[in-house]
Amino acid sequence: MNLPTEAQRDFELFFNLIPDLACIVSADGYFKKLNPAWETTLGYTREELLRTPMLDFIHPDDLERTVNEIAKQNRDYRTSHFVNRYRCKDGSYKIFDWRTTFNRDESTRFGIAKDITEQRRWETSLRESEAALQKAKDAAEAANRLKSEFLANMSHELRTPMNGVIGLTDLALDTELTSEQREYLEDVKSSAGSLLRILNDVLDFSKIEAGKLEFETIEFDLRQMVREMFKILDIRAAAKNLELAYDLDARVPSRLVGDPGRLRQILINLTGNAIKFTPRGEVVLRVERLSETAGQVELHFSVKDTGIGIPFDKQHHVFRAFSQADSSSTRMFGGTGLGLTISSQLVEMMGGRIGLESKEGIGSTFHFALPLGIAPAEPEEPAGSSSPVEGVSVLVVDDNETSRSILDKMLSNRGAKTTLADSGYAALEALRRGAASENSFKLIILDAHMPGMDGFAVAQHIKADPRFRGVGIVLLLCGSQRADTDRCRELGISTSLAKPVGEMELLETVTELLQQ
Ligand code: ADP
Repeated sequence: MNLPTEAQRDFELFFNLIPDLACIVSADGYFKKLNPAWETTLGYTREELLRTPMLDFIHPDDLERTVNEIAKQNRDYRTSHFVNRYRCKDGSYKIFDWRTTFNRDESTRFGIAKDITEQRRWETSLRESEAALQKAKDAAEAANRLKSEFLANMSHELRTPMNGVIGLTDLALDTELTSEQREYLEDVKSSAGSLLRILNDVLDFSKIEAGKLEFETIEFDLRQMVREMFKILDIRAAAKNLELAYDLDARVPSRLVGDPGRLRQILINLTGNAIKFTPRGEVVLRVERLSETAGQVELHFSVKDTGIGIPFDKQHHVFRAFSQADSSSTRMFGGTGLGLTISSQLVEMMGGRIGLESKEGIGSTFHFALPLGIAPAEPEEPAGSSSPVEGVSVLVVDDNETSRSILDKMLSNRGAKTTLADSGYAALEALRRGAASENSFKLIILDAHMPGMDGFAVAQHIKADPRFRGVGIVLLLCGSQRADTDRCRELGISTSLAKPVGEMELLETVTELLQQ
């Protein structure tokens, strides 16, 4: 009897260890050798497998492909790779992923097959569930679009009666009323205003979702827009004793091309939020020029506040629809949670992206950059006309550092010689020193509301002291408080401006005063 050699024993050990299905097939198409994986995978006995031609196990639909692969291999002697199905003893089929090679000398075929039945089943069910998910998602999106389209179409129908309510309430308020009737009507007007704001948010949001929002491309004056916008916002800020300021980079072109209504909406939302969520301190809007090419400018807008801030883990939520940083704040602060969603979508549709930096208890900055067109014929300042404040000594008095430095920039950019004072006392001290030197002040820009000695008291001192006779006074008032205008009149001050002050407005006022 021939004893197996050491190499044969080693081969036998390895062959039986292979977890996949390994086999050698003779030239007559019967299995010559099989490893145990065949029995466990297909459920036949070893004898059953050995006495049946290999092709008998193959799924009839895969037979032709398998025969072709074998023929190709006989021709090319290459390793081939293919997939087919094998019948199990129970009549079911298993899917095999084959690697086979041909031994030319003995005309035998060597093969290893991996059972990929489970893997294929899993892939198929994954594909099916993905398709089902996509179908459900498409259906939900279509329903959502339909709802948004409905709301967007209803926009006019909803807004018109609300405007009617507000307009007619205004008319009623102009008639003779008892104080009780007046109070009720004021409440009607304020509630109608709140409802209209919510309505506007919901309708805008629906329009964006329905893809029905259109943008204008018209000329506008950014400085004028900000000035007018801040006149409204300042009433809210003044009621909370907040310092409200804006700082427009001198290099920002005034005449721009874009959608002023939408830009205004974004800035009012961000600044309005900043005022709403800031119990004390300041809110500042800054506009800087990032770059300018022919007919195009990229501007960076930022609204910074010293308010309650937004915790880091809530920061990404605030841009989501109907989402508020603190759900309990809904009642404390009111609001729909839609403002920032609308703003960030508007900014994106205009080619920018809103960012946010915030620290709890310190404050927040919302910012974005936007490309805008420059209006072709921007009126240029007549060449050679020198600035009216060129070389003029101006004392700028404001307790708020931001406002002080903005006023300083507006004046010194135009050539004024500015001195800054942060209180009424410091202002008087500077005036005295100025009067004693060659360089007395021609002008004082004076914040009316300061702690300690306020602007009115400083103005009173100036009026009473003959050393300061030539100093022109521009008083800066908060909002449009009646008491302030009364005090100005009492002190004989005719020149006052409402904070926050715009550059052109300040320069016009100062020029007029210097010409007197
Ligand atoms: P609304 O103000 O109507 O609730 P918004 O979308 O404008 O909706 O704002 C969403 C939330 O983001 C606010 O409820 C608030 O929690 C937070 N938030 C927005 N702006 C500020 C801010 N300047 N400071 C602190 N929190 C803010």
